[in-house]
Amino acid sequence: MYDVIVVGARVSGSSVAMLLARKGYRVLAVDRTTFPSDTVSTHYIHQAGLSRLQDWGLLDKVIESGCPPIRHLNFSYTDISLDGFADPIDGIDAVYCPRRTVLDSILVDGAREAGVEVIENFTVDELVISDGVVRGIRGHEGDGPEQEFRSSIVIGADGANSTVANKVGADIYRTSPGGCFIYYSYYSGIDWGMQHRTGFGEQQFASWPTNDGLSLVAVMRKRDRFRDFRADPDGGVQEIVDAVDPKYGEELRDSAVREEPFRPMLYPDNFYRRSFGPGWALVGDAGYHKDPFTGWGITDSFKYAELLSERVHEGLSGSRPMTAALEDYQNTRDEQSAGTYELTTSISDLKLTPYYDSVFRAASKSPEYTKKFFGLIAGGIPGEEFFSPANLADLYAEVNLPHGDRHLTSA
Ligand SMILES: Cc1cc2nc3c(=O)[nH]c(=O)nc-3n(C[C@H](O)[C@H](O)[C@H](O)COP(=O)(O)OP(=O)(O)OC[C@H]3O[C@@H](n4cnc5c(N)ncnc54)[C@H](O)[C@@H]3O)c2cc1C
Repeated sequence: MYDVIVVGARVSGSSVAMLLARKGYRVLAVDRTTFPSDTVSTHYIHQAGLSRLQDWGLLDKVIESGCPPIRHLNFSYTDISLDGFADPIDGIDAVYCPRRTVLDSILVDGAREAGVEVIENFTVDELVISDGVVRGIRGHEGDGPEQEFRSSIVIGADGANSTVANKVGADIYRTSPGGCFIYYSYYSGIDWGMQHRTGFGEQQFASWPTNDGLSLVAVMRKRDRFRDFRADPDGGVQEIVDAVDPKYGEELRDSAVREEPFRPMLYPDNFYRRSFGPGWALVGDAGYHKDPFTGWGITDSFKYAELLSERVHEGLSGSRPMTAALEDYQNTRDEQSAGTYELTTSISDLKLTPYYDSVFRAASKSPEYTKKFFGLIAGGIPGEEFFSPANLADLYAEVNLPHGDRHLTSA
């Protein structure tokens, strides 16, 4: 009998398992994959997410992996351009984008070191449920026989298509349709730093350096252009980079070598899911999933894995009824993530609304607000502060934005 079983052992699963084991609980984490292994993710981690890794004693391992630091960010939306970097957050003055083969292994190893029993290559097929309460899991390791494990609580950290969520029938709310598709791969021969560049014609390229001297290059377009793009992805990547910034297009053509296959994906819908019930909870993409445009999936996975570990500890230690503790977890997560979710779902279809156009256009003309913009992106400045009508009124006045363009609210 375990105190906690965690299904899924990547960024949210290993984190919550590790943190609960560090509090002295007997924790089992299972994953149907083995580590190290890759998953579809462009693995940009904001300073706010890196600060969680630092707190947990794991940031040094990311740095030691040879993943290069990034200290300058280039954002553009058509003719709006923002260059700079956020102030340090908890002393962290750089961004790192480690490959998931690297990051997820660091986390799984961290969980094991904390005492978590980890079973890789174990697929959960069923939950053990009696009297409406989840009491454990049933599954199999590789082609092996069915095994059953029991625990006080089962945490689904098993991604957007969560088996745990499906088995308990967790409701979905606040959905918003996925807008785009992505193609990305890893290239040698270029060194572009961090680029997040959205061009006319609703198309984007993004790039950042990662492990092994490679740069990730990703392109995005609206979903309805996926079929055409698939016919010639290399040509499509070149066409987008050429269109958004010809200088980088030339470098891609002349110097870059694609070293790995493309990872294509049509983005699924954005959603929140009810994330607690009798004997179960959800964390990471299982409970709250959004478009990768703002690169907040991993950072939020860390943040809310930590929050969930604290609430589960309250429930298991008896300092608070488990249901109340888990309800608080969900409410806090929803409240704290609402701004990121709203921003992500509003700008991820590669076309700025008049409101965001005026905010970002004005911010790009003010060094102070450019800095604040990067603070917002990095997780150092709350959205409520940056987007407050008073703050925006000051910004518009400072840069003399024409009165007709001064949108103070997104409504
Ligand atoms: C194209 C793309 C680009 C992205 N880029 C970024 C980015 O740059 N920055 C960022 O922060 N976020 C990014 N994200 C989002 C980020 O990858 C996710 O938010 C994050 O991976 C969620 O982590 P997780 O641990 O909750 O789930 P996952 O990473 O999905 O892991 C779930 C795990 O559960 C296991 N599992 C599933 N079902 C079972 C089962 N039945 N039994 C056992 N194991 C099971 C799986 O094997 C898997 O290992 C991107 C996402 C996509 C799709």
